[in-house]
Amino acid sequence: RREEERRACYLPAVTTDGVRVEVAANISSPKEAAAAVNGGAEGVGLMRTEFLFLQRDTPPSEEEQLEVYEAILRAMNGLPVILRTLDIGGDKEVPYLSMPAEENPFLGVRGLRLCLQRPDLFRTQLRAIFRASRLGAVRLMFPMVTTPSELTQAKAIAEEVRRDVGAKPVEVGIMIEVPAAVVMADQFAREVDFFSIGTNDLTQYVLAMDRLHPVLAPQADGLHPAVLRMVRQTVEAAKRNGIWVGACGGIAGDPAGAMMLAGLGVAELSVGIPSIAAIKARMRGLSMARLEEMARRALDCQSAAEVRALAVAG
Ligand code: PEP
Ligand code: MG
Repeated sequence: RREEERRACYLPAVTTDGVRVEVAANISSPKEAAAAVNGGAEGVGLMRTEFLFLQRDTPPSEEEQLEVYEAILRAMNGLPVILRTLDIGGDKEVPYLSMPAEENPFLGVRGLRLCLQRPDLFRTQLRAIFRASRLGAVRLMFPMVTTPSELTQAKAIAEEVRRDVGAKPVEVGIMIEVPAAVVMADQFAREVDFFSIGTNDLTQYVLAMDRLHPVLAPQADGLHPAVLRMVRQTVEAAKRNGIWVGACGGIAGDPAGAMMLAGLGVAELSVGIPSIAAIKARMRGLSMARLEEMARRALDCQSAAEVRALAVAG
């Protein structure tokens, strides 16, 4: 019976009425890629590449990055892997980049904004990603996209680099983690293959509560109806344009959060490795009809606490 439970993590997460929800892993190293596969992940929904850039004195070279991305793709053995380009800034500081101090780093030069200012860093990373892509199903994802012109620029640079290294095209997506991107999701959806909702940042920007604030952080709950309404708006824009939506923020790995996201039409949940089995089991135990009904009611709640109560009551 124990063995049966253990093996269940390798079964797909299909609801009782036959809807499959993909469950992928958030990782930051090749070691975690192997652990993700062992834990039942159906892919990598978020590889936080910034971890290669932290705790050192110089940026990692193209060859160094290539080795890491290749090791991850080998470990994933053909399963899809979303490689997110450098998401530095905000709470993640890198001394050797000598970025000017900012009064509000979360509203500053972070994520794709930094990469567009530092094309040297961006191109080196993109070269490594495209060179690695021959080993597996790479999906390229840009973080902190706010305005369509940033995506246009990023895509143009990526396309140039891809041709340079002679790689085949890969799926390209963006994180949806800034309210402006939600509001403009219909425009973005015409330009990419997928969205991945970053509920950690989306929550802090929608609720205007610093995700690290000692007093406010506990209140900055991604199950707040304001955040869930943004998820709904994102999914609707994606559906109208025929692209899929995943989620990779913390609430995707929270049972109540996973239920609400799936009920809102999020097709892929990318979660921490220890949560994979439980999230798959949760999806298997419920019908999509019920999840949709619950999500619909959640949108009419007034607080995250009310939404959580709904999830518990089922
Ligand atoms: C998020 O913002 O939800 C996310 C997944 O990205 P990170 O936590 O790395 O900012
Ligand atoms: Mg984020």
